[in-house]
Amino acid sequence: MELDDIWQAALGELEVALSKANYTTWFRGTRLVDIQPPQAVISVPSAFVKKWFEKRYDQEILKTLKKLTDGAVTHITYMIGAPLPRAHTTTPQPTTHAPSPVSQNAQASIDLTPPNTMTTLRLRPEYTFDSFIVGSNNRLAYAACQAVAQTPGKMHNPLVVYGGVGLGKTHLIHAIGNTLLAHNPKLKLLYTSCEDFANDFVQSIQSKKSESFKKKYRSIDVFLVDDIQFLSRKEGTQEEFFHTFNALHQNDRQIVMTSDRIPTAIPDLEGRLSSRFGMGMVADIQPPDLETRLAIVQEKATRAGMDIDPDVLSFIAESFMSNIRELEGALNKVIAYCQLQGEQPTLDLARAALKDQLGAGAKKGATTPDKLIDIVTRHFSITKEEIMGKQRNRRFVHPRHILMYLMRLECGMSFPQIGDALGGKDHTTIMHGSGVIEKELGRDDELREELGSIRTILYAK
Ligand code: ADP
Ligand code: MG
Repeated sequence: MELDDIWQAALGELEVALSKANYTTWFRGTRLVDIQPPQAVISVPSAFVKKWFEKRYDQEILKTLKKLTDGAVTHITYMIGAPLPRAHTTTPQPTTHAPSPVSQNAQASIDLTPPNTMTTLRLRPEYTFDSFIVGSNNRLAYAACQAVAQTPGKMHNPLVVYGGVGLGKTHLIHAIGNTLLAHNPKLKLLYTSCEDFANDFVQSIQSKKSESFKKKYRSIDVFLVDDIQFLSRKEGTQEEFFHTFNALHQNDRQIVMTSDRIPTAIPDLEGRLSSRFGMGMVADIQPPDLETRLAIVQEKATRAGMDIDPDVLSFIAESFMSNIRELEGALNKVIAYCQLQGEQPTLDLARAALKDQLGAGAKKGATTPDKLIDIVTRHFSITKEEIMGKQRNRRFVHPRHILMYLMRLECGMSFPQIGDALGGKDHTTIMHGSGVIEKELGRDDELREELGSIRTILYAK
């Protein structure tokens, strides 16, 4: 067998033996680079993963390799290899591909305000596609934003990204702006919060500068507006926004908006606006699962240049569930606390640092298999016997698949463990069931929302 084949076979076994969160987070980007019995050399993408492997997975990997090499390998060395594409980015990043030009405004060259002044000051450079972790909760929104960043004004116009607080909407809209400007620094791109738009509008009336207001907002190529739920109950601003929107949209200028809820649910928003907002693409972001949260804290720790004990990162990812801003805040708090004490972060120090937040109920109790069974059966109005049973009726099969999927992602269980918990099912049955949900998630909006609402109940308990 070639080294690659051996490693593929080993990965196959490890995927079954470990929880999904652990497997996807740590094993992508690894390679078997050499076997000189009794030693095998495995290349991993970073010092961080190397440490984690030595500490947590050495025995498991060794057991697998031993088996596959008839006992020839009894020792593993880990080396840091060339960084490979990150596990969580599924859509390739744009590289040489320039965005198709948005039709240039004839006025642009004589406009006295230098293009992008306002924008470049406000876009946060660290909010890029590259620093955004993609999981099943945000895959659709991420893909739509990337499409817009590559072909503005063409694919999804307008694009609305909506979702709860701290789930990455602002990050994504900035990533669009950063990517577009990197490709075409002359692009007339305007990023604003809806609140600033409203204030600007009111001021333009007070100072009798309506004309320059109109000119500013209607002569741009790309309009990025954050938090349009702010339009609620503001009739005058809605009216002006409506005209701005039409002027841009008619000329195929790209418009991207974020909202904390689906536009049709924004109270007192004129029908003509909410219907226009739905003309292009409306993409949701749901709360992230454990796997994604773990990948996010890992990414943030790496970016902060911190080498943190994997157990500490797991602890943070398990404790902060519904909001990524809180998750990040928790990580920063642990880092600051430990720096003050002059010590490396340990589980005990992390617990001490986060005492207040944890007490306030960031985590309302660990997700256990029983808790999941309870919530899923209630959601579908079926009994525990029905969900655990073998009946092939769709009414039971679908909830059963969802339960398998969630046990893996929310409880961090391996396929065999889930099989046991569900009354002795074979691990291949669990792999299949969980895989069905994973596949459908990419194309089924209703399923994503369904999982979102199940998670909301889960995280609230
Ligand atoms: P929202 O606008 O939805 O309230 P933000 O975009 O401000 O949320 O996100 C809050 C914080 O969480 C930001 O620091 C952002 O970088 C981070 N964040 C959110 N989602 C992700 C993600 N998928 N990957 C990495 N960081 C994320
Ligand atoms: Mg925001």
